[in-house]
Amino acid sequence: MAGLQTCGSVWSCIACYFKVRTKRAAEINAVVGAHLAAGGGVLHCVITMPHRAGEALADLWSILSDCWEHVTSGGGWKKLKADHAIEGYIRATEATHSWGSGWHPHCHVLLFVDRPMSPLENEEQFYALRAAIRNRWCKRMKEKYGRIVSEEFGIRVDPVKPDDADGSGEYLTKVGYELAMGDNKIGREEGHRTPFAIAHDAAETGDKADVELFREWVVASHRKRSITWSQGLRERYGLGPERSDEELAAEDAGGEAVAEIDRDLWREIANRRDGRRSKLLTAFESDDGRNGIDAAVRFLTDLGLAVVVDEAGPIPVIGLDQPTQQPQQE
Ligand SMILES: [Zn+2]
Repeated sequence: MAGLQTCGSVWSCIACYFKVRTKRAAEINAVVGAHLAAGGGVLHCVITMPHRAGEALADLWSILSDCWEHVTSGGGWKKLKADHAIEGYIRATEATHSWGSGWHPHCHVLLFVDRPMSPLENEEQFYALRAAIRNRWCKRMKEKYGRIVSEEFGIRVDPVKPDDADGSGEYLTKVGYELAMGDNKIGREEGHRTPFAIAHDAAETGDKADVELFREWVVASHRKRSITWSQGLRERYGLGPERSDEELAAEDAGGEAVAEIDRDLWREIANRRDGRRSKLLTAFESDDGRNGIDAAVRFLTDLGLAVVVDEAGPIPVIGLDQPTQQPQQE
């Protein structure tokens, strides 16, 4: 559908989430692919922090951001980059929740290094880099926030390999998707729920605690950046300046314009929460051209709406037969 307003929230709107994040995933895949093809290496790091049930998400989120900021700034970062041939990174932030341990914000980071790096290819360099990142992260968590990150589970580092390569590591396509789309694959694994899973449960059951959780999520994630690129990385691989979530969400999704729906009829469709928007799209797509339009008209008629198709213009316009009466001023 085109011509509609979009909110651009990749955090709390499932429609904008898909539109924006699939585009981000494609960009990430393109850059990682180009870097591997040019003889570089990419490491996927999952970086977590200790947390307890009942801690506010907003507080945990700012600790997480501060620690990453610290890892990637100042002389220490310059040295770490030089020592381990790091050329840049892409970072994505996510959070899940479980009742046992509360909010679990964490980062997925792709580190770009100037050579292939894996336990098989250059064991020593791989483990040295992993230790250096871990040390810097754990030190900040401990010194500023008194939180002890598990050496074993706190940070995971895996090499990324091209989709057609053998051996250990994660496939490029999977990594780009994981970074951009987030953790939805673990929807409700072991009681850990993603925000959209919480929203889904809240809508299904009306459970007040879930409603409150999702509300906390919406407030804490508002205007946060979902994905950050280190300086120069996009330019190096020919990507233009980063477009905002709002811009990407508002972009026409492409496709073929088959019909226009007039304003009054759209109100009848959009103001109901019974899934009629997606069912209408399905009807349009069920057959080609005119037959698709007929199927959509049948669907609308079955809903009890009297509709007419005006074929005078370049594409058919579907409207209500009896436009709804606007309230009259007395
Ligand atoms: Zn939206």
